[in-house]
Amino acid sequence: MVTALIVMGGLGCVSALLLGIASKVFYVKENPIILEVEEALPGANCGGCGFAGCHAAAVAIATGKAPPNICVGGGPDISENVANIMGMKVVAKEPELASTECCGGARAVEKFNYDGIQDCRAANMLFGGTKLCEHGCLGFGTCVNSCPFGAIEMGPDRLPVFDPNLCRGCGACVRVCPKGIISLISSTTKILHFNQYSECLAPCQQKCPAQIDIPTYIDQIREGKYKEAILTIKERNPLPLTCGRVCPHPCEDVCRRGVEDEPVGINYLKRFVADWEMNQGQHLEVSIAAPSGYKVAVIGGGPAGLSCAYFLRRLGHKVTIYEQMPQLGGMLRYGIPEYRLPKRILDWEIEGIVGLGIEVRTGVKFGEDFDLEFLRAAGFDAVFMGIGAWDSRRMGIDGEDLEGVWDGTDFLSKFHLGETPVIGKKVVIVGGGNTAIDAARSALRIGASHVTLMYRRSREEMPANDMEITAAEEEGIELMFLAAPVRIHPKNGKVAKIEYIKMRLTDPDPSGRRRPEPIPNSETLMDADTIIAAIGQFPKIDFIRENKNIAALKITKWSTIDGAEETLQTDIPYVFTGGDCFTGPALAVDAIGAGRYAARSIHYYMLEGEIPLIEERQTSLIKETLFDHVEGLEHVPRVHPPELKVDTRIRNFDEVEHTLSPSDAQREADRCLRCGLICYNRDIIEAMERELAESTTQ
Ligand SMILES: Cc1cc2nc3c(=O)[nH]c(=O)nc-3n(C[C@H](O)[C@H](O)[C@H](O)COP(=O)(O)OP(=O)(O)OC[C@H]3O[C@@H](n4cnc5c(N)ncnc54)[C@H](O)[C@@H]3O)c2cc1C
Repeated sequence: MVTALIVMGGLGCVSALLLGIASKVFYVKENPIILEVEEALPGANCGGCGFAGCHAAAVAIATGKAPPNICVGGGPDISENVANIMGMKVVAKEPELASTECCGGARAVEKFNYDGIQDCRAANMLFGGTKLCEHGCLGFGTCVNSCPFGAIEMGPDRLPVFDPNLCRGCGACVRVCPKGIISLISSTTKILHFNQYSECLAPCQQKCPAQIDIPTYIDQIREGKYKEAILTIKERNPLPLTCGRVCPHPCEDVCRRGVEDEPVGINYLKRFVADWEMNQGQHLEVSIAAPSGYKVAVIGGGPAGLSCAYFLRRLGHKVTIYEQMPQLGGMLRYGIPEYRLPKRILDWEIEGIVGLGIEVRTGVKFGEDFDLEFLRAAGFDAVFMGIGAWDSRRMGIDGEDLEGVWDGTDFLSKFHLGETPVIGKKVVIVGGGNTAIDAARSALRIGASHVTLMYRRSREEMPANDMEITAAEEEGIELMFLAAPVRIHPKNGKVAKIEYIKMRLTDPDPSGRRRPEPIPNSETLMDADTIIAAIGQFPKIDFIRENKNIAALKITKWSTIDGAEETLQTDIPYVFTGGDCFTGPALAVDAIGAGRYAARSIHYYMLEGEIPLIEERQTSLIKETLFDHVEGLEHVPRVHPPELKVDTRIRNFDEVEHTLSPSDAQREADRCLRCGLICYNRDIIEAMERELAESTTQ
């Protein structure tokens, strides 16, 4: 018994000794930092960070496998606490939110009745999807179920709709989408993105020089989501109030509804929602990336300069605009008359852009008051030149310098410099562009009794916006085609008559262009006491030749600033250009598109030294998306905004066109077909249907 007790006791001692040794050998010490980090995390175990709960996330952070701000469930306070524990600093990071490019699912043909299957991945694996579209959303909403934050719901068209306020950018939806059409996207990525041929682009979006996502904003208007609609527009165009009034909307020329019916009033809708924002009285907040530490000088405060400044600012850069005139706006302010674009509206729009934190110096002229050397010394990393086309072509005829002869843009700018130009009763305008029409309609409004617009080609070739030509005709302006001035005759040193020659158009040359040529001996005299020449503008660049610091800037034979089409970079690597001074006179929306394009190049130039070219950059319309017929369309009349009657508008500068009512905007938005690349391509769909039918009968 005693022996047994001694043996048992001995065994106990040996076991205790062995256990003691083992505990020393196999002891795992819990890293106290893991415990601290885990303590700082919210403990929701949501898995949104991609790790299996908060403990796993804490281990990943403490071992350097994940950053301190990995937690998507907590706010910035939590990231900061975790970073403090790790001895790190949290810097501002732009949020990346879930988004999809697929917008046209509504018309994609349903392929199968998927008895029992309610998951995109299963449907994709078994049958290739639910809809006849190789690109788009399958529509079962697996992404909805995957979202731990309830930020996704399926919209009425069986397309996911993302709520940016709830989305934490965890990427769960990206991981489950079998078509790879959901991505996490930051504002910066969106700003830097330009259309590519491979994308699902409705024709209107392809044609818009600013590349606005038109189907999306029309859809948002249709759903009454005006705030979202205006933010969609401002991803691409910071001047929707202006464009909603003056843009000749090339997008509408390719609207698919227009193939069988009248095109959707895209620009009316843009104006409607832009006016809604203004009437709310507050500029909607747009995102701005964290400060980059770079500084850019923008020369010229027209639409090109404003757009470039706006996008650079949103990309996190410091921007200063230098402008020669007393106020910003360029030709939008000093060219386009008040009755088309009231200046209080332009002021409000520009205030919103400048309010993002852009510095402005007005009344300073590049080439005279400062130059590139000054800007470099002031620490600017890059320069954007958007100086427009501020010189006018001369008619080159006798009498051009007489009293009573005006230059079109000089004449129009007077109204915005607090002066009313003095003119006679019989006014002749020479030219066929927007400047000519605006000068004619303005002359009428300040008391001319007869206004004639003389153009050397026919109406078809007039470069002015069609709507403006019609409005001028309605107001009683006489349009005289196929006539060109040859001499101005004076009386008492002032204009008294204009002599013109009749013209005819030649047969089309190989380029398809008909040139005007004078008809011999057809000279005719016409009474006139005021003549306004509006035959074309080009950039005022004399200072470039005169100033040795700027002389390296190359000029083309058309007196435009030379630069690379692909990057808008000039021969001086840190100088970029865009807008009318690069292309010659064009449209406001062209200048706005160029402003963003230049901002992209400047951004990469400053950050990376090199500007990556955009692969497959979409610069012309995608052939497959242009149809010559659209089936199943019912004619639905286009709505028109109210406008002032001719007799009440021709003696004042009140705005002529007004905005749509909410119900009309809704009705017009309903007319949109929400085209995508494939979803609407009936031909492709029919071919796919045939293919499918054949494969199922085999
Ligand atoms: C009368 C008229 C009517 C028009 N109507 C329409 C229309 O209905 N729809 C439409 O889409 N487009 C219209 N346009 C065209 C449109 O206004 C222009 O295409 C657009 O403004 C070009 O933008 P931008 O920024 O390139 O140049 P601009 O608007 O000309 O701006 C250039 C800016 O640079 C400044 N600048 C120039 N030189 C210097 C310098 N040396 N130093 C500092 N600053 C300088 C100028 O003062 C100006 O503010 C019209 C143009 C005119 C003249």
